[in-house]
Amino acid sequence: MDLGIRGKRAVVCAGSKGLGRGCAEALAEAGVEIVLNARGAEALTVTANEIEARTGVTVIPVAADITTAAGRAAVLEAAGEVDILVNNAGGPPPGLWSDWGREDFIAALDANMLAPIAMMQALLPGMMARGWGRVVNITSAAVKAPIPQLGLSNAARAGLTGFVAGTARQVASSGVVINNLLPGIHATDRMTALDGPVAAAEGISLAAAAERRMATIPARRYGAPADFGATCAFLCSQYAGFIVGQNILVDGGAANQTL
Ligand code: NAP
Repeated sequence: MDLGIRGKRAVVCAGSKGLGRGCAEALAEAGVEIVLNARGAEALTVTANEIEARTGVTVIPVAADITTAAGRAAVLEAAGEVDILVNNAGGPPPGLWSDWGREDFIAALDANMLAPIAMMQALLPGMMARGWGRVVNITSAAVKAPIPQLGLSNAARAGLTGFVAGTARQVASSGVVINNLLPGIHATDRMTALDGPVAAAEGISLAAAAERRMATIPARRYGAPADFGATCAFLCSQYAGFIVGQNILVDGGAANQTL
């Protein structure tokens, strides 16, 4: 399917692996030039080269920490005029509600609320002036159905969701649409990192822990980054211009809710 965005330019934050990479790959397959960010230069360069070789689009790697002002400045300088922004960063660590102090909350807010807001504040004016833009924020299924041990994530992403709800409705008349994409469980390093301690605590293998978790998902599998990326690319397409300020679950039916 031609998504109608060939030749556009996207910034994909935190995209050397996992869901961000899935989004970058799907956008590149649609003919979008990519400015690809992650902290680790080695994996980032490998990913950028692989995507470029497979799709033929230009992929510019920018190794930087997107949660810092300096990191964002480096990405924005390399990017120039941007049509599509995919906001993403690593997720906060798990724990108990009583574990976290102010510094832990500030770190989570920096990564999962304030960094995406800063990227939108930097790039929305250009998109609005040119009359076209797409923003997809990678948040979490935790926004709709809280994950108890991920209280830092639940909190920070709720803040971003509130900001997007109002902002999306302020910029839509300029041809710019902002939506949030809410991953359920996908097979990425992040998920292995979360399954690992469960397996260790219960004395079961990683595979057994994963199997048990899959049984809780109606689709009976983990999502693939490609599943997630395809949805992201559609939200960035010419066909998604009337989808404004939504929170879209990609979770294999795991959140048990009617609406
Ligand atoms: P992942 O597989 O661990 O990949 C994370 C990617 O982000 C890597 O490319 C990593 O590269 C980059 N990154 C991390 N911190 C960064 C930073 N500060 N600046 C720039 N790049 C950074 O994670 P994932 O599973 O794709 O998850 C992506 C997001 O979705 C996370 O916020 C996660 O909490 C959320 N999420 C994931 C799932 C899931 O099932 N996978 C479910 C719900 C929510 P470097 O380490 O080299 O920087």
